[in-house]
Amino acid sequence: MTRAARPVLELTGVIKEYPGSPPLRILHGIDLTVAAGELLAVVGPSGSGKSTLLALLGSLDRPTGGRLCFEGRELSGLDDRELAALRAHRIGFVFQQFFLLAGLTTVENVATGLLYAGVPAARRREAAVGALREVGLGHRLGHRPEQLSGGEKQRVAIARALVGRPALLLADEPTGALDSASGAAVVELLRALNANGTTVVVITHDRELAASFPRRVGIQDGRVAFDERRPGTAPDPRGAFR
Ligand code: ADP
Ligand code: MG
Repeated sequence: MTRAARPVLELTGVIKEYPGSPPLRILHGIDLTVAAGELLAVVGPSGSGKSTLLALLGSLDRPTGGRLCFEGRELSGLDDRELAALRAHRIGFVFQQFFLLAGLTTVENVATGLLYAGVPAARRREAAVGALREVGLGHRLGHRPEQLSGGEKQRVAIARALVGRPALLLADEPTGALDSASGAAVVELLRALNANGTTVVVITHDRELAASFPRRVGIQDGRVAFDERRPGTAPDPRGAFR
């Protein structure tokens, strides 16, 4: 085994309800363990609860019930400030719609990824330039989002997610708005990040993409419908402790 199998995420019976009368239950008791260094795809029909789950994995939202541990810490014990700090230091996000800030250059957009991590401005800029070079955009430092292609925008968003060197990168349909060539480049970047040790969870409805991942977790009607590994790839994360 080449990688430590320390769990990054451990979910036990995680439930999510949205308020209403009666409340709308979206996730019906999710059990899921993700080990450090894994690359996994979350797949499932539209409306099955994938984005809801991703928001919980990234501590953007809190479960209604069950236990969710991040790197061994139960998150229900943390207040909002502590969760924000956890996100700033340990988790990167990439979304289908990029969410770049229109008035800012690529460097400034990427530097915002360090805004909440207490990094001084000069160092933020330097790190942003480094991250943009890593995603192959060293020649687009002064461009603004409207001057970039969709694939370039998503690479800027990935640079913003990785600039803080997160332990976990969460991507929600990162190729959903891209043509197939740009999408493939984005997936290659996610793979390269994973090869450097980042744990990567990607929501996708692209079957071919999902099939190329070592592990696939299927969500259906708010439940884990399957959790399969390609034989001979990542070990069962629990194996290291048995
Ligand atoms: P997926 O990402 O798999 O397409 P989502 O997690 O976005 O699915 O949504 C799952 C279900 O939860 C959908 O039926 C959606 O309408 C509902 N939902 C999502 N967000 C909210 C919310 N804030 N309030 C109420 N219902 C929501
Ligand atoms: Mg979704």
